[in-house]
Amino acid sequence: MGRLKVAFVAAECAPFAKTGGLGDVVGALAAALGRIGDDVRVILPRYRSIQGLPGGGPVIATLDGGTVREAVLASGVTVWMIDRPDLFDRAGLYQDEKGHDYSDNALRFGWFGKVAAQLVGADGPLAWKADVVHAHDWHAGLVPLWTRLAGNGPASVQTIHNMAFQGCFPADTVRLLGLPPDIYRPDGAEFYGHLSFLKAGLYYSDAVTTVSPGYAEEITTPEFGFGLEGLLQTRRDDLSGILNGIDVDEWDPARDPWIGRAYDGDHLGGKVVNKTLLQQALGLPAEADTPLCAMVSRMTWQKGSDIVLDLADRLIGAGAQLILLGSGERTLEQAATALAARHPSSVAVRIGFDEALAHRMEAGADVFLMPSRFEPCGLNQMYSQRYGTPPVVRATGGLRDTVIPYGGEETLESATGFVFEDSSADGLWQALASALALYRRKDAWLRIQRNGMRRDFGWGHSARQYRTIYEKLVARKEKR
Ligand code: ADP
Repeated sequence: MGRLKVAFVAAECAPFAKTGGLGDVVGALAAALGRIGDDVRVILPRYRSIQGLPGGGPVIATLDGGTVREAVLASGVTVWMIDRPDLFDRAGLYQDEKGHDYSDNALRFGWFGKVAAQLVGADGPLAWKADVVHAHDWHAGLVPLWTRLAGNGPASVQTIHNMAFQGCFPADTVRLLGLPPDIYRPDGAEFYGHLSFLKAGLYYSDAVTTVSPGYAEEITTPEFGFGLEGLLQTRRDDLSGILNGIDVDEWDPARDPWIGRAYDGDHLGGKVVNKTLLQQALGLPAEADTPLCAMVSRMTWQKGSDIVLDLADRLIGAGAQLILLGSGERTLEQAATALAARHPSSVAVRIGFDEALAHRMEAGADVFLMPSRFEPCGLNQMYSQRYGTPPVVRATGGLRDTVIPYGGEETLESATGFVFEDSSADGLWQALASALALYRRKDAWLRIQRNGMRRDFGWGHSARQYRTIYEKLVARKEKR
């Protein structure tokens, strides 16, 4: 099949708009699909934060009271930004300065999805017509629905980046957005008395994907499906899990401008220099032989920040240091800060978002902690393998899929990290204790580090898997 025209619809796309993994994935996957020959356009709301960037761009279309501007990312990907100042000219993407969701998010993203579907549909104003429209997360969940309603349009894909966020709004939203009333039923977009944007995407799309094979399985069960497991079971044949990649240029210890000393799998000496610099920067004793454990994440229940805090005393008792970077739930932030105050020579905590420090922690730490209760894919466990910082992860979702567990001598040939099942401080401790013991055996440790550093976490493989899904859908459409 020749070059496919694919329209991504998403609330985030790095570097224009990003609050987390979604922005990274959308930007990087679009670029990777471009590299294998597809013609991808990313459709994004034109937030205030984008307006100051170069490529404010020419207006290429006007529809439904909004304008569409074009810009081109450094990666070569074309972005179409949908603008309606009363909806998007605000301080945040989703929330106000106080951290409260905007009260009109249903209208903001509902309108955005409607206009995006119109823009690239068969009856849209552009000469460019999408073969496939690919909606990311709940913000774009109405796109497959609008596309289905329009009839003759592109095939549609809905990707779930995190099942925990579904975009559920009062029933009245159906009328507010001008949707036909008959979509509001359990066999449709209704979810227990609400309009669910994500459910609409899952119900009306031609294919559903999520960001790891493990998570694709998990979300068909009540524990991880957040009430949508039944629908996902009925769509099992159209559901696939495709692992996210990472940006291997940005996350490369041999070329990382943020870190003090470059290193690679053959020359790991530089890593010790980074460790010393990191300990000094965070006010910890600069001891080369003290194992340094790190965690970078949103401080939330999902990420298991509380589990790490529960474990801290044992970790300190074992003679290790702990550094935490993140922000999120106030109580967890406060507990982390208090822990550091109690143990200033063993624990350092930084509350906030700090890209440079995240790179320095990956480069300088010995062990990376990721005890997530659920994890659709996760990125840091891949960064840490690439940086020779073996991760300790819970066996869930993308963590299980990307870390090869150490389980005794016979696994040293392939192991890249430490995996535990039980979501508790005891569970984490089992794996961490095994990591700390192995850390003392320099040769064995070096093998684990190198096993991880050699792995290919680039986007190439995933992009080809998405491409295969697009081809299947387009072929199916042509046959009809
Ligand atoms: P999620 O999207 O669920 O938050 P991911 O692991 O998929 O988790 O992606 C989160 C991304 O944001 C990673 O690149 C991670 O390093 C980064 N990140 C999270 N918190 C911080 C922080 N406080 N400072 C710097 N980077 C952070």
